[in-house]
Amino acid sequence: MRYPFLLLLALLAACDREQAAAPASPGAPEIAAVIEAQVAPLPDTDWALHGNDYREQRFSPLAQINRDNVQELGLAWSFDMYTQRGVEATPLVVDGVMYVTGSWSMVYALDARNGELKWFFDPQVDRSFLAKGCCDAVNRGVAYTDGKVIVATYDGRLVALSAADGAVLWEVQTTDREQSYTITGAPRIAGDKVVIGNGGAELGVRGYVSAYDLASGAMVWRFYTVPGNPEDGFENAAMERAAKTWTGEWWQWGGGGTVWDAIVYNPELDLLYIGVGNGSPWNARLRSPGGGDNLYLASIVALRPDTGEYVWHYQTTPGETWDYTATQHIMLAELEIDGKPRKVLMQAPKNGFFYVLDRQSGELISAEQYGQVNWASHVDMATGRPVETPNARVFDGKNVSLPSNAGAHNWPPMAYNPDAGLVYIPVMVFPVAFLEPTEEKDSKPGQGYWNVGFDRMAGSPPKIPNLGEILDSQFLGQLVAWDPVKQEARWKGPVGRPVLGGVLSTAGGLVFSVARADQLAAFDAYTGEELWSSYTGNAAAAPISYAIDGEQYIAIAQGFGGGYAAEGGPVAHDWKIRNMSRVMAFKLGGKAELPPPRVDNREMPRPAPATADAATLERGESVYHRHCGYCHGDGLRTGGVTPDLRWSSGQTHEMWQDIVLGGVLRERGMVSFSAYLTPDDAEAIRQYVLAEANRLYLETHPEPVAGN
Ligand code: CA
Repeated sequence: MRYPFLLLLALLAACDREQAAAPASPGAPEIAAVIEAQVAPLPDTDWALHGNDYREQRFSPLAQINRDNVQELGLAWSFDMYTQRGVEATPLVVDGVMYVTGSWSMVYALDARNGELKWFFDPQVDRSFLAKGCCDAVNRGVAYTDGKVIVATYDGRLVALSAADGAVLWEVQTTDREQSYTITGAPRIAGDKVVIGNGGAELGVRGYVSAYDLASGAMVWRFYTVPGNPEDGFENAAMERAAKTWTGEWWQWGGGGTVWDAIVYNPELDLLYIGVGNGSPWNARLRSPGGGDNLYLASIVALRPDTGEYVWHYQTTPGETWDYTATQHIMLAELEIDGKPRKVLMQAPKNGFFYVLDRQSGELISAEQYGQVNWASHVDMATGRPVETPNARVFDGKNVSLPSNAGAHNWPPMAYNPDAGLVYIPVMVFPVAFLEPTEEKDSKPGQGYWNVGFDRMAGSPPKIPNLGEILDSQFLGQLVAWDPVKQEARWKGPVGRPVLGGVLSTAGGLVFSVARADQLAAFDAYTGEELWSSYTGNAAAAPISYAIDGEQYIAIAQGFGGGYAAEGGPVAHDWKIRNMSRVMAFKLGGKAELPPPRVDNREMPRPAPATADAATLERGESVYHRHCGYCHGDGLRTGGVTPDLRWSSGQTHEMWQDIVLGGVLRERGMVSFSAYLTPDDAEAIRQYVLAEANRLYLETHPEPVAGN
């Protein structure tokens, strides 16, 4: 028998007072039983690993919060982080303490009962690294083991902290700081080692993962994901084999293949799985002009955790050219397939197919489209290869590619409910039209120079003939409950903004995910019925669950940002509520309130007129899109994390050359672009900004029409 939790609390309070009138119903023995059932049997339960357990199923065994009482869920506490930008972290909870990361790889240790700060660690990331990354100074969380909290920093360091007080135990640089490597991913523990990858495949790097000794921080092994220059010799046989699938002088472009998210350790099979990213540049014709599969781009690779030795791989997208990374969440499970139990690995990478692999052998078990896909019709089960559609590689600026470079699924982690047998995927529909580059752009990318080998960002928004239609009907995000055995959708959640945030599933028969862009919602795991929601703010990362002192909590970190916010463009929106990086925890009967939203009522300054001729404006737009657009937004439309340049004040315009070339705002991440731009270029950008600012100003401040 179940009772609403608020009633239970009232009854508990009544018992405390001893003089309470006897409730009409239920009777005292039943009350005792309810209290015992609700409070006594619930042990303290941590969320100690990134995906809760080594399988990374993001399934909590806690069921105190369930389908019958989730309506009583309320805010227990909130904590405001010290930044107002992107947060993508999965918090960990160990022994009553929450370890969560915010922007700039900062670590917050909070009392998980009430959100009080226990300690704070700021790794003092060099802000100039912002121009080395594609997608904001986000971080997806720490690793915890044996009294150590390990964070990977945006500028490429791995730092081990004492869980007790945040003191630095060891620190190691995992990347060449001269190149455009950044780290946004969470490290993973594999036995006595900690493993970390990196990002930067939009800016010309060669991807790898490295393992470090947990005790000393000494590097134990490194596995590159793509081959280097053959003249330098290959690191191992896997690289030698991979090099046969590349042509031209790919190493001059870096090659890409960064492992920026999924790393999963399977202690039972003693295998480490890594998800490998896209090519650098995206355009395979530039990177590997004679074609080829370009191993191990867009692949899942199994390694020996002790040595980093290659074991097997499965490539999701041979000859990757659309930014179809396969570094999305990798999840392990046991499924019954054709009457037989199988140890599987599951992934929903950007390319729109849901893959089920045998995690021991790497054998492809099944692959079906979970999202809207037009680049391949299906995966041929005989060869394991996708069958591309005739127009898949037509990049004329008009042919729409689905999914886009943002993917049908990106960094927000999925969740699995083993009882329901469903994987919950935050799916995106998000089209793009690539344009082959002009010859002038066939140059190598680097810091401050996003060159993915397409003119995708030239023309803002991309000049797709029916773009309006596509924007209205197809830019969306939706939670999809996927049956991984039948490879079909069971139910779909409400439609929202493309990036939904991550997903949690619980033994209470609930699925928690972001809904309608600014709410955390609970769905029935079996039917998809929405049972509860609460305003959380702008966007949220990955929910978790834990229990302390007999109470179950649902917690989530939030902060709008990431690549989606930086790139902005057609999906950007007007901010009126200021972005807030925040952690929130909910429990049954929670009564805390969020601080009131900070409304941004600033008025756009009236811009000076643009004085340049049409050719200069066009050049300004082109240069802007090459060097500025990936932070300040496609078509100058930002997602609100970086300044909207159209709103620049007169003072900013006066300081334009000092900012763009002199680097006077370097401490805020706006580095000098003097290596790429001349004073004339900077002025052309300024004129383009002024022209667009005037356009926006007229749209939002229409002149009164004479006679009205
Ligand atoms: Ca990418």
